[in-house]
Amino acid sequence: MIKCLIFDLNDTLDNTNSAIIKAFKIVLKKHLPTLNQNDFQSYAQELMVFFWQSDRLADLSYPNWTMDDIIKHAVKKWYEFKKTTKNIKINAERFSRDYGSIRNDFLTIKPMMVKLIKALPSPLFKFIFSQGNSKPDIINLLHRSSLNENDFTEIISTKLFKEENKPSINILNYILRKYSLKPKECVMIGDDVCADLMPAKILGIKTILSSTYVDALSTTDLQLSTLIKKCVKK
Ligand SMILES: [Mg+2]
Repeated sequence: MIKCLIFDLNDTLDNTNSAIIKAFKIVLKKHLPTLNQNDFQSYAQELMVFFWQSDRLADLSYPNWTMDDIIKHAVKKWYEFKKTTKNIKINAERFSRDYGSIRNDFLTIKPMMVKLIKALPSPLFKFIFSQGNSKPDIINLLHRSSLNENDFTEIISTKLFKEENKPSINILNYILRKYSLKPKECVMIGDDVCADLMPAKILGIKTILSSTYVDALSTTDLQLSTLIKKCVKK
């Protein structure tokens, strides 16, 4: 019997990527007002990819970078990439600052997820397992989205664990031990296979992948082979 749901936060419960794109679109409109509507969308999506690249780089090599440093690096890299194909001019410093000032304005727990959390039976253990977000920031986000800390058994941020980032077997084990749960009684729900699902699966926890970036899903090599053959035939 399932007794426990463990939710990743970014882009599983919340709308991180679409919030990033919305904020970048607003800054692009200010700095490049003559762009057409399609360019705003595709440039904002590209900037989001550079943002994540920069965020990962900070995790791996520059742990002292602030969010401002991460944004500045992302915008500079995107601008270099764009300059080679398009004749656009932006002030990367000012662009980064403008983005930083509104970066969280569109962030919310997805309405469908709010509804789901509220409708879940109360004996169920419910956890948020977040990478990098501070607990006060998560609680603030819940409040802005008509949820609160009490809707969850515990909010777990990697920031509370020294030298532990996702993927983490230790943090999942912390949940199992503290609440006397068996792996087979738990489900991990996330949008990142390596960060969220891999350690859970290794421990024997069931996994659900949630992603709008997946057009086809293969969970075995045989399925993958069939899917590729179908693509090639089209
Ligand atoms: Mg995520």
